[in-house]
Amino acid sequence: MAPGRTQTNSLHVAVIGAGAAGLVAARELRREDHTVVVFERDTQVGGLWVYTPKSEPDPLSLDPNRTIVHSSVYESLRTNLPRECMGYRDYPFVPRPEDDGSRDPRRYPSHNEVLAYLQDFAREFKLEELVRFKTEVVSVEPKDKKWRVVSKNSDGISNDEIFDAVVVCNGHYTEPRVAQIPGIESWPGKQVHSHNYRVPDPFKDQVVVVIGNFASGADISRDIMTVAKEVHIASRSNPSETYEKRPGSENLWLHSMVESAHEDGSLVFKNGKVIKVDTIVHCTGYVYHFPFLNTNGYVTVDDNCVSPLYKHVFPPAFAPGLSFIGLPWLGVQFYMFEVQSKWVAAVLSGRVPLPTEEKMMEEVKTFYAKRQAQGFPKRYTHRLGRTQVGYLNWVAEQVGEPPVEQWRDQEVDRGYQRLATQSDTFRDKWDDDNLMVEAYEDFLSQKL
Ligand code: FAD
Repeated sequence: MAPGRTQTNSLHVAVIGAGAAGLVAARELRREDHTVVVFERDTQVGGLWVYTPKSEPDPLSLDPNRTIVHSSVYESLRTNLPRECMGYRDYPFVPRPEDDGSRDPRRYPSHNEVLAYLQDFAREFKLEELVRFKTEVVSVEPKDKKWRVVSKNSDGISNDEIFDAVVVCNGHYTEPRVAQIPGIESWPGKQVHSHNYRVPDPFKDQVVVVIGNFASGADISRDIMTVAKEVHIASRSNPSETYEKRPGSENLWLHSMVESAHEDGSLVFKNGKVIKVDTIVHCTGYVYHFPFLNTNGYVTVDDNCVSPLYKHVFPPAFAPGLSFIGLPWLGVQFYMFEVQSKWVAAVLSGRVPLPTEEKMMEEVKTFYAKRQAQGFPKRYTHRLGRTQVGYLNWVAEQVGEPPVEQWRDQEVDRGYQRLATQSDTFRDKWDDDNLMVEAYEDFLSQKL
């Protein structure tokens, strides 16, 4: 038992995935004296941040039997948030003193740097010894108040095991959501989802429409414009009359959403423009997907709302044996994974109680109804945005952790504002040095 702990339950826990969420979940579970097996279908830790030039053979990833390529990272990707606010609280994402020049010290570093950071984290806390690599979980189901987990390794050998609890950390940026466009069935052009986008070369001299203008859409359109004839960004959040050339570019336009597609290869936009297009790139996000999970229909995913979930983590009828780390989006991720993991680990050991199933269900219903009343579409159920501080502090309080640092919250807020208003320069020009200084002072004072 870890020093200073009181006697608690030590359980046998399965963690699915060794990305940023699964790694910190494993660390927190072990700190709480549980025994942990992390199942990882890849050959290394890092999840989404393990870049591969390979993409799926089906460019829209619609075929349920396709070979899955997990990562959605493209070659030019740099982080969309400053590194100080991205890291785990007690293992900041700062350039390491032992850097030998092979690392990327920028405030918004490349994807390789995030992977290197996660590899450092796994090494520092000796997490790899908990991971079964090349092992995919194919089925999870409740059995006699425990959990039956069936996995398959790369030699095709199945393993059928019983765990006290399962923590799902399988990521949610692999199963694409595709925009529905009237007439698209007879449109002769090509379509690809950003999940399968890697480099701009295949778009040379083409006319390309990029649907979606948040982080990936903004990046990918600028990547493609370096080789394409024209790039047109379509976004449903733009007013219908939107039509403007993007500053500093000769071949990049912003439009309202595409209204229809036609047999002659043209797309009609809501602003009335008609353009013959070679390829549509859907930067339209992803859906939660748990193909291995069998709860007899209790846990459902409908319009990207995973339900019912108490505080985005515990399905009441199965709590605490089944939990999900990392579902909320639009906020700090690694830090959230860390506090959610501390909560799950402490609840499993019995150190921190949960309300009764009925009380949790009541809270879930109230929360979902409130979001609806506030006008949020169902697919925004797990969107944090401005609610992140309230949520993170609530979870932190359950386990006696301090509230989220103000600089961290403000960096996220300012970072997303910059992303929206200066999508071409936000990674290299900023006006919040004061927050960066505060962050580094904080790291120093904690000797992290
Ligand atoms: P993942 O990293 O996806 O890890 C899930 C792991 O589970 C994978 O290793 C996978 O192989 C494994 N797995 C899945 N199913 C199974 C199974 N059945 N059996 C065994 N193993 C399985 N966040 C930021 O904070 N900053 C950023 O700049 C940022 N940029 C992003 C850019 C893009 C393009 C995308 C898509 C997301 C970005 N994010 C960013 C969010 C990012 O998802 C999180 O930062 C985080 O890395 C997700 O970690 P995860 O562990 O939840 O999922």
